Amino acid sequence: MNFLPVFLDLKNRSCAVIGGGEVASRKATLLLEAGAQVTVYAPTAGETIRRWAADGKVRHVKQEFRPEMLDGCVLVIAATDDKSVNRQVSDAAKARNIPVNVVDQPDLCTFIMPSIIDRSPVIVAVSTGGSSPVLARLIRARLETLIPAGYGRLAKLVVKFRDRVKQRFSHPPRRRQFWEEVLQGPIAELVYSGQDAAAEKALQRRIEAVDGSQAPVGEVYLVGGGPGDPDLLTFRALHLMQQADVVVYDRLVSPAVLSLIRRDAERIYAGKERDNHAIPQEDINHLLVRLAKEGKQVVRLKGGDPFIFGRGGEEIDTLAAEGIPFQVVPGITAAAGCAAYAGIPLTHRDYAQSVVFVTGHLQDGTVNLNWKALVQPNQTIVFYMGLHGIDTICRELIRHGMPSSTLAALVQQGTTRNQRVLTGDLETLPSIVDQAHVKAPTLIIVGDVVELHGRLKWFEPTAAN
Ligand code: SAH
Repeated sequence: MNFLPVFLDLKNRSCAVIGGGEVASRKATLLLEAGAQVTVYAPTAGETIRRWAADGKVRHVKQEFRPEMLDGCVLVIAATDDKSVNRQVSDAAKARNIPVNVVDQPDLCTFIMPSIIDRSPVIVAVSTGGSSPVLARLIRARLETLIPAGYGRLAKLVVKFRDRVKQRFSHPPRRRQFWEEVLQGPIAELVYSGQDAAAEKALQRRIEAVDGSQAPVGEVYLVGGGPGDPDLLTFRALHLMQQADVVVYDRLVSPAVLSLIRRDAERIYAGKERDNHAIPQEDINHLLVRLAKEGKQVVRLKGGDPFIFGRGGEEIDTLAAEGIPFQVVPGITAAAGCAAYAGIPLTHRDYAQSVVFVTGHLQDGTVNLNWKALVQPNQTIVFYMGLHGIDTICRELIRHGMPSSTLAALVQQGTTRNQRVLTGDLETLPSIVDQAHVKAPTLIIVGDVVELHGRLKWFEPTAAN
């Protein structure tokens, strides 16, 4: 982060605004809304400042700027149209370690003013780090439409009942769950529709109705995290990641997706590197059961789709046997994600009528596949976990009658900014893997549709780092 967002308490604190024009008064408005004591330093001032001074809202000192004016201030804004004065203000503030903002001169600022959505006490601040105020405004406009005007009143309702709820629910996860239900349910709707008194009564009844001392049984959400690009998550996946107590995730889940997990959620890495499981599958199954029995909302986050080569079925089987409630959230599987981002339509009508997803995972050094069923005309084959067995895969396909000139693609880290797509045929693929140092996770697509990649590729990422 180039800037740390913070919210300052300026109530009755002394702030200085240098400059008396309309821009200065706009900035001063914000300071006044935050309850600051504002002194405006300007030899002459515009109408707004003069009126405020007459009304006693601000103090107006009709003098040229001098550094000593800043002594005792907690915040300074320079809004004159004289660049040298602005610089003097900036220097004087910095010398005194007072945060300073100079309007439209980011290089002179030690803090920047965000775009604000005010639903006090809820405040959303948007910043683009000074790079594009227009973009900040557009984001703000979008958020304005998403955040109901009643949010402020909803927050006030929470404050009013916070202590009561705390007493009632000794178990913190249960308490959070209670608030989540209230803030997303009919009580919140009452507030949005302006029926604050009814909402208050309903909340009171609700608190009395529940037994807060008992830890609830938690729930497990088996969630597909998609192939890597966080924009490919489902809304439901994101929603659950945002309210989880604990997230148990695999190696395949991309860092960009992980960064969307609720900040305070506990994170447990479950491994799943080939032949190097950080936690054995059996233990993962029981871990999920134990966490849920502790009353937690557990997100079991897996790469792609949880039911496609993800062993998700085994995990919920254990949950079902133990009577733990669970839900399954599908995700975009690697085949769908990689094919889309590589411009390879898996069932383009001119080339294929079917597509099969198979695992190329080696068991005892062999790939146990029904090769005859795979080698069919007009069929695309997608191999998951096929990298290690690439030699065997190509050899066996050829041995079972597939032309060695059949096209094939390797998609490494598909849909991410590190995506690589390499194409060849069954003859050349193994050496391409070697020479280009192809690494997991890589998906192998075999079939005539691979030809389309040349024409239809569109995603050209610039590597993150
Ligand atoms: N449940 C997952 C698959 C798990 S098996 C899903 O639905 O996608 C793991 C294999 O998936 C990897 O070995 C690799 O072949 C493939 N894979 C997963 N994500 C990938 C990605 N972003 N790029 C390429 N291959 C990927």
